[in-house]
Amino acid sequence: MASISSTLGILATLAKWFFTDKPTSAAIDITRRCNLKCKHCYWWQQDHPPEMSTSETARFMKSLKASGLRVALLYGGEPTLRLELCREASRIFDSALIFTNGLNGFPELGNAQWLVSLEGPREINDAIRGDGVYEEVKRNISRAHRAPLVHMTICRPNSSRKAIEGFVREMCSLPIKGIGFSFYTPVNSPADGELFVPLHERDQIVDLLLNLREKYGKRVGITQAMARQLKSNGAFAHWNQYQLCPVSERVRCFCSDGSPKRCTYGDEADCSKCGCAAVVAYRGAFHPLDLSTLRVIIGLLRP
Ligand code: SF4
Ligand code: SF4
Repeated sequence: MASISSTLGILATLAKWFFTDKPTSAAIDITRRCNLKCKHCYWWQQDHPPEMSTSETARFMKSLKASGLRVALLYGGEPTLRLELCREASRIFDSALIFTNGLNGFPELGNAQWLVSLEGPREINDAIRGDGVYEEVKRNISRAHRAPLVHMTICRPNSSRKAIEGFVREMCSLPIKGIGFSFYTPVNSPADGELFVPLHERDQIVDLLLNLREKYGKRVGITQAMARQLKSNGAFAHWNQYQLCPVSERVRCFCSDGSPKRCTYGDEADCSKCGCAAVVAYRGAFHPLDLSTLRVIIGLLRP
């Protein structure tokens, strides 16, 4: 449960989103290491700077908080390989969202919310992430002290109706807080062609996701307003350039040595084909104001 100071901090962040155009969040790659080697993972195809020590990173986080960034998004590599930093972030920031592959479980951390990435049903997930990973992560979800969020990146190999619905049905039978969806964003990698779902196909999948929310309930984390942000005939063209994307205004992104980078997807990400769930949720909640998407965001920020 979020503490009173964390809840007040989250309210302050929401107020900043309403009333200012200032940055509110820090996205940090706290490690460049990972305990998996997923097929197609862009992380392995990019160069990454060395890691700061634990004390250097903690000092860095404190300076970010002091500069007004109240929410942390922790990425890697695999953040649980530096669990002490996950713990620090949960103490320092009002809210910390930690993206994990789920293999090391979901330790209880004050103001932190775990988001576990899976690629779809077992056969597809394990073909990408490795044999046995799906069942291991399911076991860890069932044992978690606090229900994690699940995140699926929709790409060509997992984009069939059968795969998406089967996965959503199975996840909704587990003790999860909710399930969210991004679409693969090209990052100038040789695998882009195999992974990117063309925009006209994406439109149909977005409709499918809305139907699944009707069928399986509000833990399926997509609203009509979020769908509108993704649709090629909706609001997509209003944000799919760097200068228009909320990341450029609200989120400061950093590598594991504290140097800045353009986007959490890396400097080469193709904004014109972006499928980032965080952008879609933010824009869906505030452009224009939409209460059901705002509830999705508060659920994300509030452990
Ligand atoms: S868990 Fe994430 S960072 Fe690690 S290999 Fe897989 S996709 Fe890449
Ligand atoms: S890739 Fe997406 S999230 Fe990143 S800056 Fe571009 S539009 Fe924003």
